[in-house]
Parts: sequence; structure tokens; C-alpha cells
Amino acid sequence: MITLELPLALQSRLSQGHPWVYRNQVPATSDLASGTWVQVRCGRFAAFGLWEAHGAIAIRLFSRRALPDADWVADRVAEAWDLRSPLRAGATSAYRWIYGESDGLPGIVVDLYGEFALIRTYVESVESLVPEVAEALHAHATLQGILWQPREGVLGPVWGRLPPPDLTVEEHGILFHADLFAGQKTGLYFDQRENRLTLASRCGDQTVLDCFCYVGGFSLYALRAGARSITACDSSAAAVEAAQHNLLLNGFDPSLHTFLVQDCFDLLEQFSAEGRRFDVVILDPPSFARDRPSRHAAERAYVRLNRLALGLVRPGGLLASSSCTSQVSPQAFHQVLAEAARQAGRRLLIMHDAGQAVDHPVPAHFPEARYLKFVVSRVLPVP
Ligand code: SAH
Repeated sequence: MITLELPLALQSRLSQGHPWVYRNQVPATSDLASGTWVQVRCGRFAAFGLWEAHGAIAIRLFSRRALPDADWVADRVAEAWDLRSPLRAGATSAYRWIYGESDGLPGIVVDLYGEFALIRTYVESVESLVPEVAEALHAHATLQGILWQPREGVLGPVWGRLPPPDLTVEEHGILFHADLFAGQKTGLYFDQRENRLTLASRCGDQTVLDCFCYVGGFSLYALRAGARSITACDSSAAAVEAAQHNLLLNGFDPSLHTFLVQDCFDLLEQFSAEGRRFDVVILDPPSFARDRPSRHAAERAYVRLNRLALGLVRPGGLLASSSCTSQVSPQAFHQVLAEAARQAGRRLLIMHDAGQAVDHPVPAHFPEARYLKFVVSRVLPVP
């Protein structure tokens, strides 16, 4: 196996456990095929990683002691399983079992939907680990089937049977239909699970506007908590249809819920012109920036969205605003909210400031794992 000497400047970061080596940090002569194991050395630090021929990250580090084998992979899977035991104890059957770097398996994500697991690989180099991951998954939990979604290519089975079209999973006791083949990101957004619960506790007897509702996550929790009425909007007709289905699945009263298939920016403008007001407005837009250069445009889009939403919150009501763009830091998102409040002529008091759910842990040594911001603020007039 090839050994690569890395610049000493990286030693402290790598020793802390940061698993990435960028291409401009490796010797220029390195020309290997994606998926080749390499050993890196950096002063007293040494580790084994997978070489990736494309992209900014040249090596993803896995193990410090020995070349990872099936037992090593099984240990990571077992450790991640144990870390999620509080979730299983709380009427939740769908969650992220492996969150890549955070669970020691860079580039690999595994989502569990009841007795079906979905493996996703984000780079070519880690694809060779899929059989070992799949083996460890079904050795560890009672599963019926495992699917794999490569970065490029279609979702397909790797073990067992395919999930049924009517697969239903539970999240804090709320039922969701999980259509793993038709979902737009495939499946459900687990990262907001705890935030849905937190917000719902403030939605009793309130009128709620759920923008970017997808399959109804925030709406369903708010309905269970006794919301007076909910208006939910998403531009995807398929998502809204799924949300309506989930409403019935849980036996909630459909008369309390209005679903709209529309662009949320347009809807907020329209409601503003009509003078509509809500006690709680929820914003959970898609990522507005995938890379650094689009960060400023994303911040402007967030400001506009939050300004429009703020205009619809009755004085003393709540704005629950999310951002899943890792390019926008928590501090930058606070600035976005402050600027939106200035433009809307409101005062925002932050009541709750959170990130992603417990199945998306953020290692102290790998802040890149944090992407979700979820800020609940009280909306007040300017004195
Ligand atoms: N709140 C959801 C997740 C939202 S994901 C939950 O808790 O599960 C983001 C959603 O925004 C997607 O469903 C996507 O269809 C929708 N979307 C993207 N751009 C939109 C737009 N301009 N107007 C309305 N919906 C949009």
C-alpha cells in the first residue's frame, strides 16, 4: 500500500479526528484510482483512508489502527445503532442510522425505514464498502430489505426484498407513508424531528401557516398538539398529495387543514396583500446554496423569505425559520433574521435555537456536519 506524507500543519486537526484531506494537501504526484486504500502519515499521526480521484477532498480517513475490514465496519454500524437507542424507545421507527463522517463512515449515509434500510454513497471511493455495510446492517437489526442509492445511478436492492408501496413508519408516534422510490429526496426529512416536536408544543389552539410543508411533517405534529387550523403549502403536487394521505393515516380532522400547491414566495406575497395573519408561521425551504459562491444570493433569498413571513405573523406570534444550507452559518442566519426583521419593521426575540436531530450528530472535531438551523422567535412590534 502506498504511504503519503502530509504537511505537518495538518497534524493537530487530523489527530483531533477530522477525516478529510484536501487535494491541495497531498503530494502532487499522487495519481491513484478512486477507492484505493492509502496510508497517510503526518508527524506522529498515521491513518488509513480511501483515495478519491475527483473533487476537492482527495482522501477520506477511516481508521487509525489497521486497514478497515468487515469487523471494523460492523463495529461502526453497531456503535451508531447503540447511539440511536433513545429514538427507538420513543415510538420512532424511521431515522438516520449512519450519518457519514459523524459515525466514522465518511461518505456513507444509512436511513432506516421500519425494517428497510436505504444506503446512500456520496462518492465513488466508498462504494466498495457497501457490501460490508449491508452485511453489518442485517446482522445487527431485523430487516426485510436493503436498498442502495449511489451518487450517480438508480436506487436498487442489495439485500432482501423491496419495500411494499404502502410502507408506513412512525416518528414520535405520528405515522408517515414512506415511498422510497417516489420521494423527491427519497423518503422523509428526519433532521427536523425534534424541532417538529418542540414547535408543536407551542401550537395548541393556534392558527399555523406551514410553508414548504413537503409530506406534512410540521403540520401533523401541530395538529396532534391541538392547532386551531393549519394552512400548508408546497410547490410539489406529489408532496401535498402525500401530506393529505398522511393526515388521513393519522385520523386527523381534514377540515382543520388547507393544502395549497403553490410557490411559497408567491403565496406569502398574496397573503400579505390580502392582510392575512397567523399565530405561527413555519419556514422550511430547500437549500438555497450548494457552494460557497452562491452563499450571498442564498442569504438574500432567506432575507426576502423571512421578511415576507414576518409580515403575516400577528403581534406576539411566532416565526419558526429554518435553513438547511451549510454555507450559511448559525451566526450568519441570525444576521439574516435581524435584517429581515429590520425590513419588516418588527422586533424578533429568539426563544429557541436548534440544529438537526440527534441521529445527525455533530462531532466536536468535524463542524462541517452541522448544516441545519432552526430558530423559533417571538415577533413583536418595534417600540
Ligand atoms: N418541512 C418539510 C420538509 C421541507 S423540504 C418536513 O418537515 O418534512 C423543502 C420542500 O420545499 C420540498 O417539499 C419542495 O417541494 C418545496 N419547495 C421548494 N421550492 C419551493 C417553492 N419555491 N415554493 C414552495 N415549495 C417549494
